[in-house]
Amino acid sequence: MSGSQRPVRVRIAPSPTGDPHVGTAYIGLFNLAFARKHGGKFILRIEDTDQTRSTRKSEEMIFRSLRWAGIAYDEGPDIGGPFGPYRQSERLPLYQKEAAELVRRGNAYKCTCTPERLEALREEQKKAKQNPGYDGRCRDRDPAEVDKEIAGGAPHVVRLKVPREGVTVVTDLLRGRVEFENKGIDDQVLLKTDGFPTYHLANVVDDHHMQITHVIRGEEWITSTPKHVLLYAGFGWEAPEFCHLPLLRNEDKSKVSKRKNPTSLVFYERCGILPAALRNYLGMMGWTMPDGREVFTLDEMIANFDLGRISLGGPVFDLKKLFWLNGKYLREVVSTEDYLAALRQSQASDEYLKKVITLVKERVDKLEDFFDYGSYFFCGSVRCDVKELVPKGRTADEIAGALAELVERIDKQFAWNKDVLEQMGRTLADEKGWKAKDLFAPIRVAITAKNATPPLFDTMELIGKEVCRRRLREAIALLRAPPAKDPTPPKAAN
Ligand code: GLU
Repeated sequence: MSGSQRPVRVRIAPSPTGDPHVGTAYIGLFNLAFARKHGGKFILRIEDTDQTRSTRKSEEMIFRSLRWAGIAYDEGPDIGGPFGPYRQSERLPLYQKEAAELVRRGNAYKCTCTPERLEALREEQKKAKQNPGYDGRCRDRDPAEVDKEIAGGAPHVVRLKVPREGVTVVTDLLRGRVEFENKGIDDQVLLKTDGFPTYHLANVVDDHHMQITHVIRGEEWITSTPKHVLLYAGFGWEAPEFCHLPLLRNEDKSKVSKRKNPTSLVFYERCGILPAALRNYLGMMGWTMPDGREVFTLDEMIANFDLGRISLGGPVFDLKKLFWLNGKYLREVVSTEDYLAALRQSQASDEYLKKVITLVKERVDKLEDFFDYGSYFFCGSVRCDVKELVPKGRTADEIAGALAELVERIDKQFAWNKDVLEQMGRTLADEKGWKAKDLFAPIRVAITAKNATPPLFDTMELIGKEVCRRRLREAIALLRAPPAKDPTPPKAAN
């Protein structure tokens, strides 16, 4: 039976493991449009069962960025709702209870295989050129014997009992019937030795208990869906409808990634994309208005929304096109009042200006010099001189390499403040055996296009991770660009 007879309830379920991702806003927008179109509810659930990678700070940034983007949910951890808690780490007893129920129903089993055994198994499979996967040792054992081991203190997981033959059918609203051979599906771990669920168990249990009718998510999850279908069947629950949206792509059609495109919503907010323009642009990712219009509001999108209008060709997330659309909004849609209000919420806010004043006031004598001196606090990119980027005794290649290494570390580092930055910079310089200033000077030029500025790491903290990252990458590109040919070659001497 389809989920469509029940009142529509949809959700996004991001994991709070980094910067808020533009893909979350994209999937969120389509869920929101679908919910509104059908008079249903749109829920935010935080999937934080990966305790090593999840942080509260990342979670707060998700709330904040979705609010900024105007992708408003009806229920969520920060606003509550009748199906809470909406944070998976607060629902652990439920997953444990349901895992036990699935074992009781004979559709899951306990497994005491040690990590060493599993590792050896993987090695054997690799050698024999077989697909990696659990070999079912505990599946075929007498459960009483396994329970005895557990009572004696053996750690155990709970695994899904995937049928060994036949196929599992996923019906996707965009793709129709998709068949998966059961022999290619592993006996997925559902509950780990520490009692935490894996994504698959928690996701299905929550979608069921939160009465989700339609799972609208990115297509990277489609290979997980057969496991979910088996779980719903194993529990005897009605499965929701599934709809896997095409992934956002870079221009070269690879999956959108921060190596090629900024993916953090914070970047789009900081560079002054209007939320309405971002929603409009994301609304064009694989979806079109019936009349082909490119400029439309969220309400217009909702009024015309139809999942059937989504095309599966990977939509290209093209920054230039987004900037073009944003420009159109700034010129044609936004009033001067709203323009001013938007500026006042960003680099012209009192809060931001006060911080710039604190850093700049020691260094300027007249107010008229303020914006000129501190121009790099207010713009996106800076124009730095490639010669200034390379200190004496170092090569362009070396500096490019060091800055690239810094960007990599920045990407892995979630916290952003001057202490973290200074530590990162000093460690990198030490590792290279460089004097700190050989690294700090080029960073300063890359970030500000100047040789003298307020303290470097205070400056970077205020400018923010997204803009610093972008300027560092631009400096690297400049350092690696082939030298420009002199347009007027000198006349041959005679
Ligand atoms: N936690 C998954 C994510 O990070 C949720 C995927 C889903 O919607 O099922 O996107």
